[in-house]
Amino acid sequence: MRLFGTNGVRGVINEDMNVQMAMGLGKAIGTFMTGRVAIGNDPRTSADMIKSAVSCGLMSAGAEVVDLGMVPTPAVQFYVKENGLSGGVMITASHNPPEFNGIKCIDSDGTEMPRFKEEEIERIYFSRDFRSCDWMRVGGLCRASGAVESYLRNIVSLVDADTIRGAGLTVVLDCANGAGSISTPLLLNDLNVRAITLNANPQGTFPGHPSEPVEAHLQDLIALVKASDADLGIAHDGDADRTIFVDDKGRYLYGDKSLAIVAEYMVRENGGGTVVTPVSSSLAVEDVVKRAGGDIIYTRVGSPIVARKMIEIGALFGGEENGGLIFPEHQYCRDGAMTVAKVLEIVAKEGPLSALVDKVPQYCQVKRKIACPDERKGTVLDELLDYYCSETVDTTDGVKIIYNGGWTLVRPSGTEPLFRIYSEAKTEGDAIRHSEECEAVLSELLKI
Ligand code: MG
Repeated sequence: MRLFGTNGVRGVINEDMNVQMAMGLGKAIGTFMTGRVAIGNDPRTSADMIKSAVSCGLMSAGAEVVDLGMVPTPAVQFYVKENGLSGGVMITASHNPPEFNGIKCIDSDGTEMPRFKEEEIERIYFSRDFRSCDWMRVGGLCRASGAVESYLRNIVSLVDADTIRGAGLTVVLDCANGAGSISTPLLLNDLNVRAITLNANPQGTFPGHPSEPVEAHLQDLIALVKASDADLGIAHDGDADRTIFVDDKGRYLYGDKSLAIVAEYMVRENGGGTVVTPVSSSLAVEDVVKRAGGDIIYTRVGSPIVARKMIEIGALFGGEENGGLIFPEHQYCRDGAMTVAKVLEIVAKEGPLSALVDKVPQYCQVKRKIACPDERKGTVLDELLDYYCSETVDTTDGVKIIYNGGWTLVRPSGTEPLFRIYSEAKTEGDAIRHSEECEAVLSELLKI
């Protein structure tokens, strides 16, 4: 049985995520990783309850718990890596509604835990094969301060802080009442950026707007950027591992735009290098990376997979289109504050964000889905591959048919009985046409 999804274990509080489960997971994690384990949380109303239960489980298995308090997920990851801890646990449900909470495991190098280690934790959890320490060996708990400060200090040391400080920038920052409220305002202060803040008080009911930074939730931010004549708008998700931007004209930027802008800048500044991104990312990213003299490598979808590929090949930069950018010089995980600092550096050096956005090639992406029973997914994908055998096909994750100036990707959903069909082309008409053609092929295969 599987507990961990793509971003840890998540559920609605006191329904599918309760104290017993949290303590059981704490015991399983503490059995799996001995030694010192950091724990942090976002501001959800259930944070103390779930964190206490996980901590009790960890201590009963003999782990020493280091409680960092309310911090962004990447600050826990940085703390684990920098202080040589055995691992970490973040209590967050990221962008999910406030009634949810979740438990996410962090490996000793600060990366998101790979699937095979989660499987071992699941095995311990379900078999109740917990280590139960005698009274001499149960763990203790200490509270550590300064995690956010050392995390931010490292970020500031990795960007051209003097140029940012001298640029006289104004930003509007929307923290979605999440964990970024306690860190990104400090970062902007250190970088001498004038910050007009929105929803920058941590509040677990998320009264400002839901914590997923999609355009519909950021209307106040967009209006305030326009009204204040700011240089850019910045929005985090609930645990501030992701950042989405609004340009100086008040335009909401889909994550592929900021990914492309940063990727091109990184490659240009470093005179080449490899950028890693999932197969579902826009061709705009590949275009700008190649334009700057770099290489691109595609992976399966999922930020831990991108991060591990980056480590394996020594990549310069990587990231996902949802605003999760990974900077190896800082750490191998999505990092909201590092993304803010790097984009400020780019704007300070190269001018208005709107002008940078306009240099990113335009593509249109459409998404659709088609039902398919789980047991037929593998066979249907094989048949789809046969059907497109004369085309250029990438099978990194599902089947991606590559055309001149576009592509169509068919991926089986990991959680639902359906295929997702993504299609990208220069025009919306072409994207729709390609996705409809592919859906028609799939529906024929499904009839057999
Ligand atoms: Mg998140």
